[in-house]
Amino acid sequence: TKPNIAFIGLGNMGAPMAENLLKAGYTLSVYDLSEDATQRLQQAGASVADSPKDAANNAQVVISMLPAGKHVHSVYLGDSGLLANLPKGTLVIDSSTIAAADARTVAEAASELGIDFLDAPVSGGTGGAIAGSLTFIVGGSADAFAKAEPILAVMGKNIFHAGDHGAGQVAKICNNMLLGILMAGTAEAINLGVKNGLDPKVLSDIMLQSSGRNWTLEVYNPYPQVMENVPSSNGYQGGFMSKLMQKDLNLAMQTAQDTNVETPMGAKATELYEAHTVENGDRDFSSIMGRHDASLLS
Ligand code: NAD
Repeated sequence: TKPNIAFIGLGNMGAPMAENLLKAGYTLSVYDLSEDATQRLQQAGASVADSPKDAANNAQVVISMLPAGKHVHSVYLGDSGLLANLPKGTLVIDSSTIAAADARTVAEAASELGIDFLDAPVSGGTGGAIAGSLTFIVGGSADAFAKAEPILAVMGKNIFHAGDHGAGQVAKICNNMLLGILMAGTAEAINLGVKNGLDPKVLSDIMLQSSGRNWTLEVYNPYPQVMENVPSSNGYQGGFMSKLMQKDLNLAMQTAQDTNVETPMGAKATELYEAHTVENGDRDFSSIMGRHDASLLS
Protein backbone atom coordinates (compact mmCIF):
# COMPACT_ATOMS: atom_id res chain seq x y z
CA THR A 1 0.00 0.00 0.00
CA LYS A 2 1.08 3.55 -0.71
CA PRO A 3 2.11 5.71 2.26
CA ASN A 4 0.24 8.93 2.99
CA ILE A 5 2.41 11.93 2.15
CA ALA A 6 2.60 15.41 3.68
CA PHE A 7 3.97 17.92 1.14
CA ILE A 8 5.25 21.27 2.41
CA GLY A 9 6.21 24.09 0.02
CA LEU A 10 4.20 24.34 -3.20
CA GLY A 11 6.08 26.92 -5.26
CA ASN A 12 7.39 26.74 -8.81
CA MET A 13 8.84 23.28 -8.11
CA GLY A 14 6.81 21.88 -5.23
CA ALA A 15 3.41 22.34 -6.89
CA PRO A 16 4.10 20.25 -10.01
CA MET A 17 5.99 17.64 -7.97
CA ALA A 18 3.03 17.25 -5.61
CA GLU A 19 0.65 17.07 -8.58
CA ASN A 20 2.60 14.16 -10.02
CA LEU A 21 2.29 12.28 -6.72
CA LEU A 22 -1.48 12.84 -6.78
CA LYS A 23 -1.67 11.59 -10.37
CA ALA A 24 0.18 8.44 -9.30
CA GLY A 25 -2.50 7.75 -6.69
CA TYR A 26 -0.82 8.96 -3.49
CA THR A 27 -2.94 10.61 -0.80
CA LEU A 28 -1.53 14.06 -0.10
CA SER A 29 -1.98 16.57 2.67
CA VAL A 30 -0.30 19.86 1.74
CA TYR A 31 0.83 23.06 3.40
CA ASP A 32 2.20 26.37 2.11
CA LEU A 33 2.18 29.91 3.50
CA SER A 34 0.61 31.12 0.25
CA GLU A 35 -3.08 30.50 -0.28
CA ASP A 36 -2.75 30.68 -4.06
CA ALA A 37 -0.32 27.79 -3.83
CA THR A 38 -2.55 25.59 -1.67
CA GLN A 39 -5.63 26.33 -3.78
CA ARG A 40 -3.93 24.95 -6.88
CA LEU A 41 -3.22 21.68 -5.06
CA GLN A 42 -6.68 21.49 -3.57
CA GLN A 43 -8.08 21.63 -7.08
CA ALA A 44 -5.75 18.79 -8.04
CA GLY A 45 -7.14 16.62 -5.22
CA ALA A 46 -4.96 17.24 -2.18
CA SER A 47 -6.31 18.10 1.25
CA VAL A 48 -5.04 21.43 2.58
CA ALA A 49 -3.65 21.67 6.11
CA ASP A 50 -3.29 24.68 8.42
CA SER A 51 0.26 23.92 9.54
CA PRO A 52 3.12 21.53 8.73
CA LYS A 53 2.12 19.54 11.83
CA ASP A 54 -1.47 19.31 10.67
CA ALA A 55 -0.28 18.17 7.22
CA ALA A 56 1.85 15.44 8.78
CA ASN A 57 -0.99 14.03 10.83
CA ASN A 58 -1.44 10.45 9.53
CA ALA A 59 1.47 10.78 7.10
CA GLN A 60 4.22 8.16 6.97
CA VAL A 61 6.30 10.33 4.64
CA VAL A 62 7.00 14.09 4.69
CA ILE A 63 8.40 15.91 1.65
CA SER A 64 9.46 19.56 1.70
CA MET A 65 10.39 21.93 -1.14
CA LEU A 66 11.23 25.25 0.52
CA PRO A 67 13.29 28.23 -0.66
CA ALA A 68 16.33 28.13 1.65
CA GLY A 69 17.95 26.79 4.82
CA LYS A 70 16.19 29.21 7.16
CA HIS A 71 12.78 27.99 6.00
CA VAL A 72 13.83 24.35 6.45
CA HIS A 73 15.06 25.17 9.97
CA SER A 74 11.83 26.90 10.90
CA VAL A 75 9.64 24.09 9.59
CA TYR A 76 11.54 21.20 11.21
CA LEU A 77 13.49 22.36 14.26
CA GLY A 78 12.62 23.69 17.71
CA ASP A 79 9.92 22.69 20.17
CA SER A 80 7.11 23.64 17.83
CA GLY A 81 8.97 22.28 14.79
CA LEU A 82 7.74 19.34 12.80
CA LEU A 83 10.38 16.81 13.93
CA ALA A 84 9.28 17.06 17.57
CA ASN A 85 5.77 16.20 16.46
CA LEU A 86 6.40 13.24 14.15
CA PRO A 87 6.12 9.61 15.18
CA LYS A 88 9.25 7.44 15.17
CA GLY A 89 9.88 5.80 11.84
CA THR A 90 8.57 8.67 9.73
CA LEU A 91 10.57 9.23 6.54
CA VAL A 92 11.42 12.89 5.87
CA ILE A 93 12.66 13.94 2.44
CA ASP A 94 13.83 17.54 2.02
CA SER A 95 14.26 18.51 -1.65
CA SER A 96 15.11 22.17 -1.03
CA THR A 97 18.62 23.28 -1.98
CA ILE A 98 20.28 24.27 1.31
CA ALA A 99 23.76 24.18 2.88
CA ALA A 100 25.07 20.66 3.47
CA ALA A 101 25.79 21.71 7.09
CA ASP A 102 22.12 22.67 7.57
CA ALA A 103 21.00 19.34 6.09
CA ARG A 104 23.30 17.50 8.50
CA THR A 105 21.94 19.49 11.47
CA VAL A 106 18.35 18.55 10.64
CA ALA A 107 19.37 14.93 9.93
CA GLU A 108 21.03 14.67 13.36
CA ALA A 109 18.03 16.13 15.16
CA ALA A 110 15.81 13.70 13.26
CA SER A 111 18.01 10.71 14.02
CA GLU A 112 17.87 11.44 17.77
CA LEU A 113 14.09 11.13 17.51
CA GLY A 114 14.20 7.92 15.46
CA ILE A 115 13.19 9.69 12.26
CA ASP A 116 14.87 9.04 8.91
CA PHE A 117 15.94 12.20 7.12
CA LEU A 118 17.22 12.49 3.56
CA ASP A 119 18.56 15.53 1.76
CA ALA A 120 17.23 15.08 -1.77
CA PRO A 121 17.74 18.26 -3.82
CA VAL A 122 16.72 18.13 -7.46
CA SER A 123 17.88 19.25 -10.87
CA GLY A 124 15.86 19.65 -14.06
CA GLY A 125 14.00 22.91 -13.57
CA THR A 126 10.26 23.50 -13.61
CA GLY A 127 10.05 21.66 -16.95
CA GLY A 128 11.50 18.56 -15.30
CA ALA A 129 9.18 18.97 -12.31
CA ILE A 130 6.11 19.11 -14.56
CA ALA A 131 7.27 16.19 -16.72
CA GLY A 132 8.23 14.07 -13.71
CA SER A 133 11.75 13.75 -15.11
CA LEU A 134 13.77 15.43 -12.35
CA THR A 135 17.16 14.22 -11.20
CA PHE A 136 17.18 13.55 -7.43
CA ILE A 137 20.54 13.77 -5.66
CA VAL A 138 20.17 12.07 -2.32
CA GLY A 139 22.23 12.06 0.88
CA GLY A 140 21.46 9.78 3.84
CA SER A 141 21.32 6.12 4.87
CA ALA A 142 20.94 3.31 2.35
CA ASP A 143 17.82 2.07 4.18
CA ALA A 144 16.05 5.41 4.00
CA PHE A 145 17.14 5.79 0.38
CA ALA A 146 15.56 2.44 -0.49
CA LYS A 147 12.29 3.51 1.15
CA ALA A 148 12.28 6.84 -0.68
CA GLU A 149 13.22 5.56 -4.13
CA PRO A 150 9.78 4.45 -5.38
CA ILE A 151 8.29 7.80 -4.32
CA LEU A 152 11.07 9.83 -5.89
CA ALA A 153 10.71 7.78 -9.07
CA VAL A 154 7.20 9.23 -9.50
CA MET A 155 8.66 12.75 -9.67
CA GLY A 156 12.01 11.98 -11.25
CA LYS A 157 13.82 9.88 -13.82
CA ASN A 158 17.32 9.69 -12.38
CA ILE A 159 17.65 8.98 -8.66
CA PHE A 160 21.22 9.10 -7.31
CA HIS A 161 22.43 8.10 -3.87
CA ALA A 162 25.35 10.55 -3.54
CA GLY A 163 26.45 9.39 -0.08
CA ASP A 164 25.75 10.13 3.58
CA HIS A 165 23.81 13.11 5.01
CA GLY A 166 24.70 16.33 3.19
CA ALA A 167 26.23 14.59 0.16
CA GLY A 168 23.16 15.34 -1.94
CA GLN A 169 23.52 19.04 -1.18
CA VAL A 170 27.23 19.09 -1.97
CA ALA A 171 26.63 17.48 -5.38
CA LYS A 172 23.73 19.85 -6.04
CA ILE A 173 25.73 23.03 -5.41
CA CYS A 174 28.59 21.76 -7.59
CA ASN A 175 26.02 21.31 -10.35
CA ASN A 176 24.41 24.69 -9.79
CA MET A 177 27.71 26.54 -9.65
CA LEU A 178 28.40 25.07 -13.09
CA LEU A 179 24.88 26.00 -14.25
CA GLY A 180 25.35 29.61 -13.11
CA ILE A 181 28.63 29.76 -15.04
CA LEU A 182 27.02 28.20 -18.14
CA MET A 183 23.99 30.52 -18.08
CA ALA A 184 26.10 33.67 -17.65
CA GLY A 185 28.52 32.45 -20.32
CA THR A 186 25.79 31.50 -22.79
CA ALA A 187 24.11 34.91 -22.37
CA GLU A 188 27.48 36.57 -22.94
CA ALA A 189 28.17 34.56 -26.12
CA ILE A 190 24.72 35.23 -27.59
CA ASN A 191 25.10 38.92 -26.85
CA LEU A 192 28.49 39.04 -28.59
CA GLY A 193 26.92 37.52 -31.70
CA VAL A 194 23.86 39.77 -31.65
CA LYS A 195 25.98 42.91 -31.24
CA ASN A 196 27.92 41.75 -34.30
CA GLY A 197 24.89 41.34 -36.50
CA LEU A 198 23.82 37.73 -35.90
CA ASP A 199 20.27 36.53 -35.34
CA PRO A 200 20.09 35.07 -31.80
CA LYS A 201 18.16 32.01 -33.02
CA VAL A 202 20.61 31.29 -35.85
CA LEU A 203 23.58 31.67 -33.49
CA SER A 204 21.90 29.48 -30.84
CA ASP A 205 21.24 26.74 -33.43
CA ILE A 206 24.88 26.89 -34.51
CA MET A 207 26.27 26.68 -30.96
CA LEU A 208 23.79 23.93 -30.12
CA GLN A 209 25.40 21.78 -32.84
CA SER A 210 28.91 22.92 -31.98
CA SER A 211 31.27 22.52 -29.05
CA GLY A 212 29.65 25.28 -26.98
CA ARG A 213 26.57 23.09 -26.60
CA ASN A 214 25.14 22.99 -23.07
CA TRP A 215 21.87 22.54 -21.13
CA THR A 216 20.91 26.22 -21.38
CA LEU A 217 21.06 26.07 -25.20
CA GLU A 218 19.27 22.71 -25.22
CA VAL A 219 16.24 23.55 -23.10
CA TYR A 220 16.52 27.00 -21.48
CA ASN A 221 17.74 29.58 -24.00
CA PRO A 222 18.11 32.96 -22.24
CA TYR A 223 17.33 35.13 -25.29
CA PRO A 224 13.62 35.99 -25.73
CA GLN A 225 11.68 34.13 -28.45
CA VAL A 226 14.48 31.77 -29.47
CA MET A 227 12.57 28.94 -27.74
CA GLU A 228 8.94 28.45 -26.82
CA ASN A 229 7.78 27.67 -23.29
CA VAL A 230 10.86 28.96 -21.50
CA PRO A 231 10.95 31.87 -19.04
CA SER A 232 12.88 34.12 -21.48
CA SER A 233 9.91 34.00 -23.88
CA ASN A 234 7.53 34.77 -21.03
CA GLY A 235 8.97 37.96 -19.55
CA TYR A 236 11.39 35.87 -17.43
CA GLN A 237 8.49 34.87 -15.15
CA GLY A 238 8.32 31.55 -13.30
CA GLY A 239 11.21 29.11 -13.60
CA PHE A 240 14.16 29.45 -11.21
CA MET A 241 14.40 32.88 -9.62
CA SER A 242 17.71 34.75 -9.83
CA LYS A 243 17.72 35.16 -6.05
CA LEU A 244 17.62 31.37 -5.68
CA MET A 245 20.54 31.00 -8.12
CA GLN A 246 22.41 33.58 -6.10
CA LYS A 247 21.65 31.61 -2.92
CA ASP A 248 23.13 28.48 -4.53
CA LEU A 249 26.22 30.31 -5.79
CA ASN A 250 26.75 31.70 -2.29
CA LEU A 251 26.46 28.17 -0.88
CA ALA A 252 29.07 26.99 -3.37
CA MET A 253 31.39 29.90 -2.51
CA GLN A 254 30.98 29.25 1.23
CA THR A 255 31.81 25.57 0.73
CA ALA A 256 34.83 26.45 -1.40
CA GLN A 257 36.09 28.88 1.24
CA ASP A 258 35.54 26.46 4.14
CA THR A 259 37.47 23.73 2.36
CA ASN A 260 40.14 25.89 0.74
CA VAL A 261 39.19 25.07 -2.84
CA GLU A 262 39.72 27.56 -5.69
CA THR A 263 36.63 28.44 -7.79
CA PRO A 264 37.48 31.50 -9.89
CA MET A 265 34.74 30.95 -12.50
CA GLY A 266 32.19 30.34 -9.75
CA ALA A 267 33.34 33.53 -8.03
CA LYS A 268 32.78 35.53 -11.22
CA ALA A 269 29.30 34.05 -11.75
CA THR A 270 28.48 34.86 -8.11
CA GLU A 271 29.57 38.45 -8.63
CA LEU A 272 27.41 38.77 -11.78
CA TYR A 273 24.30 37.30 -10.11
CA GLU A 274 24.83 39.40 -6.99
CA ALA A 275 24.68 42.57 -9.08
CA HIS A 276 21.80 41.23 -11.18
CA THR A 277 19.56 40.26 -8.26
CA VAL A 278 19.57 43.81 -6.84
CA GLU A 279 16.88 44.68 -9.39
CA ASN A 280 15.90 41.28 -10.79
CA GLY A 281 15.84 38.82 -7.91
CA ASP A 282 12.34 37.55 -8.67
CA ARG A 283 12.93 37.07 -12.39
CA ASP A 284 14.08 33.72 -13.75
CA PHE A 285 17.87 33.30 -13.67
CA SER A 286 18.11 33.36 -17.48
CA SER A 287 17.30 37.10 -17.18
CA ILE A 288 21.05 37.55 -16.65
CA MET A 289 20.76 38.06 -20.45
CA GLY A 290 19.42 41.54 -19.59
CA ARG A 291 22.81 42.58 -18.20
CA HIS A 292 23.84 43.06 -21.80
CA ASP A 293 20.64 44.68 -23.04
CA ALA A 294 18.25 46.07 -20.45
CA SER A 295 15.47 46.43 -23.06
CA LEU A 296 15.11 42.61 -23.00
CA LEU A 297 13.83 42.90 -19.43
CA SER A 298 11.05 45.37 -20.11
P1 NAD B 1 9.47 29.07 -4.80
O1 NAD B 1 9.87 30.30 -4.08
O2 NAD B 1 8.72 29.16 -6.07
O3 NAD B 1 8.61 28.12 -3.81
C1 NAD B 1 8.83 28.01 -2.42
C2 NAD B 1 7.49 27.84 -1.73
O4 NAD B 1 7.71 27.62 -0.32
C3 NAD B 1 6.58 29.08 -1.84
O5 NAD B 1 5.31 28.69 -2.32
C4 NAD B 1 6.52 29.60 -0.41
O6 NAD B 1 5.27 30.20 -0.10
C5 NAD B 1 6.72 28.34 0.39
N1 NAD B 1 7.20 28.56 1.77
C6 NAD B 1 8.16 29.38 2.21
N2 NAD B 1 8.32 29.26 3.55
C7 NAD B 1 7.42 28.33 3.95
C8 NAD B 1 7.09 27.78 5.22
N3 NAD B 1 7.70 28.15 6.34
N4 NAD B 1 6.10 26.86 5.25
C9 NAD B 1 5.47 26.47 4.12
N5 NAD B 1 5.75 26.96 2.90
C10 NAD B 1 6.70 27.89 2.82
O7 NAD B 1 10.83 28.25 -5.01
P2 NAD B 1 11.09 27.01 -6.01
O8 NAD B 1 11.57 27.53 -7.31
O9 NAD B 1 9.94 26.08 -5.96
O10 NAD B 1 12.37 26.35 -5.31
C11 NAD B 1 12.29 25.57 -4.10
C12 NAD B 1 13.67 24.99 -3.82
O11 NAD B 1 14.07 24.17 -4.92
C13 NAD B 1 14.77 26.04 -3.65
O12 NAD B 1 15.67 25.61 -2.66
C14 NAD B 1 15.43 26.07 -5.01
O13 NAD B 1 16.78 26.49 -4.93
C15 NAD B 1 15.31 24.62 -5.44
N6 NAD B 1 15.28 24.38 -6.90
C16 NAD B 1 14.54 25.16 -7.75
C17 NAD B 1 14.53 24.88 -9.12
C18 NAD B 1 13.75 25.73 -10.10
O14 NAD B 1 13.97 25.57 -11.32
N7 NAD B 1 12.83 26.58 -9.68
C19 NAD B 1 15.25 23.79 -9.61
C20 NAD B 1 15.96 23.00 -8.73
C21 NAD B 1 15.96 23.29 -7.38
